[in-house]
Amino acid sequence: MFEFINEEIEALKKAGLYRELRLIDREKVKVFCSNDYLGLSKHPKIIGASIRATKEFGFGAGASRLISGNTILHEELERKIAKFKGREAALVFPAGYMANLGTISSLVDENDTVIIDRLNHASIIDACKLSRAKLQVYRHRNMEALEAILKKSGKLRRRLIVTDSVFSMDGDIAPLPEIVKLAKKYKAMTMIDEAHATGVLGKTGRGAEEHFAIQGQIDIVMGTLSKAIGSMGGFIAGSKALIDYLRNKARSFIYTTALPPSACAASLAALEIIESEPELVRNLRMNSRFLKELLGTENLFSGSEDTPIIPIILGDAEKTMDISQKLFERGFFVSGIRPPTVPKNESRLRITITAAHSKEDIECLASLLRELIPAAAKPM
Ligand SMILES: *Cc1c(COP(=O)(O)O)cnc(C)c1O
Repeated sequence: MFEFINEEIEALKKAGLYRELRLIDREKVKVFCSNDYLGLSKHPKIIGASIRATKEFGFGAGASRLISGNTILHEELERKIAKFKGREAALVFPAGYMANLGTISSLVDENDTVIIDRLNHASIIDACKLSRAKLQVYRHRNMEALEAILKKSGKLRRRLIVTDSVFSMDGDIAPLPEIVKLAKKYKAMTMIDEAHATGVLGKTGRGAEEHFAIQGQIDIVMGTLSKAIGSMGGFIAGSKALIDYLRNKARSFIYTTALPPSACAASLAALEIIESEPELVRNLRMNSRFLKELLGTENLFSGSEDTPIIPIILGDAEKTMDISQKLFERGFFVSGIRPPTVPKNESRLRITITAAHSKEDIECLASLLRELIPAAAKPM
């Protein structure tokens, strides 16, 4: 009955798509594939805050938020996120994945349509499937394609446009001012996933709305606390009515145990640090630009925007994993990304920069890349 399991695994191995977990000694290798963009997961204030909260509240929350798992730290964190994102209210979920799942599936159903960029994150796609809304996909960042879909969707009850603000595997940015315009014209709701924008984009790290100077114009702002915030959890920020609605409707909020209070304390401390140490966001941007400059001259990288995600597209899955392994042997951890995470023939090294990287490490990585990747590296 279970032969299919071995067969499927063999097929993955043959295609170069088999996945294994890797244990790494962070003292020995330089990690260039973490989403801890500001290095906050190791910040002494955050570690201290989470230890204090664990001592006061215990580790596990013990129940869902709506039963007995709610603490003052959960509520303080929601107020802090709302303020950080310039919204009336916010709701915290145990993970970003769950924030997308619960939110999209409670806003639209089979009477509606959800319209997404082709390169949106897997959690958005899963959420759309769960919602049973008609799923319509437009070409990456292509506004004519989005408008064509909007034009034809007038008969459906609700239209929800969802996009990553910073695309997780490409590091480019969604054209949000245009999306907002189209949404207004066709009366659609807008939602952005700020997993890679929170703590990253905009002068003070508030995200894509700050980057484009369109504060408050997106209806629903989703983000995660597990990347630049250095902690764990996901959130939605929006109007008071929206948050009320989600507290009552989002099943991935209702039917799961609340985040540990220590994770809330860590996130609260992180958001305070981002505000009180603006140089962190500045350093992240400086480091990202520095590597892009070093690589750009060699034409290894052709992305152009202000994000710390730098893909080097190699095409072939096996070749990608081979170069990743060679980098690892030389002390640099850069993950190879293969289908189904990215489209077929778009396997890539995905380099992520953090504020904690030193100039020397970045220079060293750049010269290794030049050595290992033949000039034939295909630009994006
Ligand atoms: C990581 C990520 C998520 C999921 O967030 P978690 O908190 O890790 O569950 C959602 N969307 C995007 C774009 C992501 O990169």
